[in-house]
Amino acid sequence: MGASHGHDAADDETPGPRVLAVSAVSPRVRTIAVERPGPSDVTYLEAARKGLGVTLRHFVKNVFGKRRPAEALARGEEVAKQGLVPWNEIETIQYPEEKTHYPERFRGLHRLMQRDDGAVRCVACMCCPTVCPAHCITIVPAEADDQGVEKRPAVFEIDELRCVVCGLCVEACPCDAIRMDSGVHAKPVEHRGDAIMTREKLLDLSKQVGKDPASTATQGGEGPDWRE
Ligand code: SF4
Ligand code: SF4
Repeated sequence: MGASHGHDAADDETPGPRVLAVSAVSPRVRTIAVERPGPSDVTYLEAARKGLGVTLRHFVKNVFGKRRPAEALARGEEVAKQGLVPWNEIETIQYPEEKTHYPERFRGLHRLMQRDDGAVRCVACMCCPTVCPAHCITIVPAEADDQGVEKRPAVFEIDELRCVVCGLCVEACPCDAIRMDSGVHAKPVEHRGDAIMTREKLLDLSKQVGKDPASTATQGGEGPDWRE
């Protein structure tokens, strides 16, 4: 074993363990200081004390803190704090007493549009069930009475529990027959079958949410009326 000498200042700048001594024979042989965990690290008491402190701080803040106005909470708005009492950080909407506000482009429950004569606007082209990634649209086409329309859906169902609310069906529809602008979300149901929106329910939803069920389609985005 060769002799060793004390480490110099350059050793202190080297990242890594603290070097106590370097071998005179082979500089790559070094004696390093081993940092052993202290009593607080071994017992975790210090870490537990810190953790409990954080938990207690949040508890006090969220039990005694002021709640932001429900409107601001629903919109996710930042509100300037007044006084010293902190804001409650548990941002919970007290549904159903309070309801959140959905953005204008929120994709809600589907609704089916109607023609001027009240007939369903869908022509059963099968574009929407083809594009639907969740395979939750079921359409059974049937002959249409109208000479100008080849087909109509005898059955049009959407399983709202399988729907992933992607909006592709709306995008794919060539005649603006289906929309997701109802502004309401799928409600919890007790029976599985109640989550399936039938053609009648889809047509009726427009009235329930106060929208015009008749189509004012903008075919190709070229005007307020698809015929213009
Ligand atoms: S929103 Fe998406 S998942 Fe839902 S029915 Fe339409 S295409 Fe299917
Ligand atoms: S894409 Fe439109 S027209 Fe075609 S089946 Fe779906 S809702 Fe009906």
